Amino acid sequence: MPSHHVLVLNCGSSSFKFAIIDPHHGETLLNGLAERLNDSNPAMKYTYNGTKTNIELASFSSHTIAIESLVSIIQDLNLSDSLIAVGHRVVHGGETFTQSVEITPDVLAAIQKTSNLAPLHNPANLIGIEAAQHAFPNLKQIAVFDTAFHQTIPEHAYLYAIPYSLYQDHGIRRYGFHGTSHYYVSDMACKTLGLDKQNSKIITAHLGNGCSVSAIKNGQSVDTSMGLTPLEGLVMGTRSGDIDPGLFSYLTSQLNYSNEQVDALLNKQSGLLGLSQLSNDCREIEDAAQAGHRQALLALDIFCYRLAKYISSYLVPLGGLDALIFTGGIGENSSLIRQKVLSHLSFVGVRCDDSQNEIARFGKGGIISANGSSVQAAVIPTNEEWVIATDAAALTLETK
Ligand code: AMP
Repeated sequence: MPSHHVLVLNCGSSSFKFAIIDPHHGETLLNGLAERLNDSNPAMKYTYNGTKTNIELASFSSHTIAIESLVSIIQDLNLSDSLIAVGHRVVHGGETFTQSVEITPDVLAAIQKTSNLAPLHNPANLIGIEAAQHAFPNLKQIAVFDTAFHQTIPEHAYLYAIPYSLYQDHGIRRYGFHGTSHYYVSDMACKTLGLDKQNSKIITAHLGNGCSVSAIKNGQSVDTSMGLTPLEGLVMGTRSGDIDPGLFSYLTSQLNYSNEQVDALLNKQSGLLGLSQLSNDCREIEDAAQAGHRQALLALDIFCYRLAKYISSYLVPLGGLDALIFTGGIGENSSLIRQKVLSHLSFVGVRCDDSQNEIARFGKGGIISANGSSVQAAVIPTNEEWVIATDAAALTLETK
């Protein structure tokens, strides 16, 4: 097997996703998931050549143990020699990282330093990096940051209107996340819609369990809805998105919430779950709404209204709009959400083609705006792993 594949690792706090990808064409040779790590009932599975395999993990297996299992799988399938690099998704790169980098001791220290901005994510990413360095000592390890693409956002868009010293002394500002996805789908949008990237105005809506929207002008991010943390912005699966910050002191002083309880309320009990009182899963909410469940209908309405409001506000940094792109589990599959959002935005000049909108599901993508619509709308399945593999391969070959 030719030696040019990249192992892509995406470590979360209790799970990690992995894939072996051909960076040239984006084909996935192997992919899988380890979940419920450090829990009594962990699970690991992978798909290779169309065959799905489940791997047994002992209770309370750690990330390191699961990565050791992954190494055995790679060895058993004789794939070790095909690898040229390991690409790691790292959630927060702060202002230090504006692009992907090879992981050196200095880079590791800088990621560690940024952990205070992403205490749920960066420590898990670091565990993955250290385990992979141990498992693959001869491979280059590359970090690809969720925040990097948004480092072009101008000061007037990333600063909060709070004392400037909090930015100077503590780096408190808006950073934005899902950067790899926003970059990928905006780049694909230029290719598939025939736009001149250097002269383009695109809004990308990444709608999954976490949701964010970005304004991308001439290929560069100029605004995005997530902030210092991934809590700001749109209504999400379990996150509230924007709220009045006064709510925090109201909950603590009037309702005796602790800081941890407020944090859990806003991150884990809000969003679609909190509003619907049913589920954070958009499919379940859509089914319930169809059956007339009032809270489910309300949750969908609020989700779409907030998203449409954000999209229209991004006409300010863009000064117009060429294309609106939907991606992520909800964006790629929910024709109902897309139709509701587009119906709010007809004044912007985007008209939905209902039958194309119905067809664009299950990873197929496609243009969903009607012929003659002055703004194009499209569904483009995201592929963050491919971007990570491409960056990792480019940096590896560059330094060989
Ligand atoms: P992600 O985080 O990108 O994997 O997206 C997860 C979200 O996508 C969940 O809210 C799912 O309910 C939603 N989703 C996946 N498939 C569909 C579908 N066919 N219709 C509506 N929502 C979907």
